Amino acid sequence: MSRDDGGRLVIRGCDVLRIPAEGECDVLRAQDITVADGAIESIRPTREAETAGEVISGHGLLAVPGLVNAHTHSPMVMMRGAAEDVSVEEWFNERIWPMEVNLTPEDVRLGAELACAEMISSGVTAFADHYFFPEQIADAVTASGLRADIAPTYFSSQGEKALEATAEFAESWHGAAGGRVTVSMGPHAPYTVNDADLRTVSEHARRLGVRIHIHAAENVEQTQSSLERRGITPIRVLHDTGVLDAGALIAHGCGIVPQDLPLLAEHSGTVAVACSPKGYLKHALVPLTPVRALLDAGVTVAAATDGPASNNNLDVWESLRLIALTQKQAERDATWMTLSDTLRLATRGGAHALGLGDRIGCLEPGKRADIVLMDLSGVHCRPLHDARAALVYSARASDVRTVLVDGRILMRDGRLTTIDVPALLGEIDGRVARLLDISHGTAVQHYDP
Ligand SMILES: [Zn+2]
Repeated sequence: MSRDDGGRLVIRGCDVLRIPAEGECDVLRAQDITVADGAIESIRPTREAETAGEVISGHGLLAVPGLVNAHTHSPMVMMRGAAEDVSVEEWFNERIWPMEVNLTPEDVRLGAELACAEMISSGVTAFADHYFFPEQIADAVTASGLRADIAPTYFSSQGEKALEATAEFAESWHGAAGGRVTVSMGPHAPYTVNDADLRTVSEHARRLGVRIHIHAAENVEQTQSSLERRGITPIRVLHDTGVLDAGALIAHGCGIVPQDLPLLAEHSGTVAVACSPKGYLKHALVPLTPVRALLDAGVTVAAATDGPASNNNLDVWESLRLIALTQKQAERDATWMTLSDTLRLATRGGAHALGLGDRIGCLEPGKRADIVLMDLSGVHCRPLHDARAALVYSARASDVRTVLVDGRILMRDGRLTTIDVPALLGEIDGRVARLLDISHGTAVQHYDP
């Protein structure tokens, strides 16, 4: 194996962030991380010695587990900043769903590549995606070296054939790219997918051994509407149609109400909720994801960015910071959502949310070598009293220096190794005018939860 694609290597002399399943995170000083066959072989106090493989200097750098973005629509980088200062209804009905009529497979492919470049650059090593033309995303992920769980978006308005096609995508791609690509079923939401289809999706998920990634109870208005129209909450719909039982990654959940908690707790081993606060704040939504109630019920919560058409970037550092800030304020408790708990959401929490808790989410021997080297020597982080505080409240995505996934170097000292960004941007810039032209007056769907 060549040095950049999974051979043996040592990261020498770095500090290592330890993220236990519970309790305080801490930093081990001056360690050597040995990587073999894409996995972490050992983490030991550093010693200068001959090694068989490549040596990366980690001196002055902090090794952290690659961040997990637990809910996004990566190709929507193509619509970044194109739907601002609008309500949720206008965002869907007057901007985004009309623009998505224009999407071609090639748009999705290029958008996914740009998104991969942005995520690698900011230390994200795995993401849960939910979008159209999933083969294009899978190709982009495979080429980029990243890890992703890809859910092909499905609306009931597309019909039975389209649903079957999403199951076929799962069959052919789950476990591809040496296990870096996994697949979830992707029904859009309980207000765009009917109960019969949700039941079929659950059956496919159980048969194929994959999870279900779905938007639900995105805001409290959706929960109220569901209660008025059919007498049950969106989470109860997921429960009754077998979605929770099959294993669900629920996006947002800001409208999760107390009567939903026992339903979620019943499936706490396989259910997770992804929280992406920036979009909620931009769309003036209250309340936000009930993180404390969910964690108290034993349900995994993970950090996410949602799509860049609402979040404007794919920066999970920003997401975890906003989660800490908004949760402290929502609970009116400055001692809640500690540094360690916040870091856990974006690492172990995200790994569990993607069904990858046994493979990624922390730096320990046996885990896949998804490693990010952070440079916390910038003036905005100094003096460095507590690296955990720097990561949550001071660090920037641009402090990411080097990124490995499965032991392969995807960014080395600030330079991407798998994606030619200038060439990519050249191709993308010629496409955006057509993509944003909504004079056709149609839309892929209508928002009326
Ligand atoms: Zn979303």
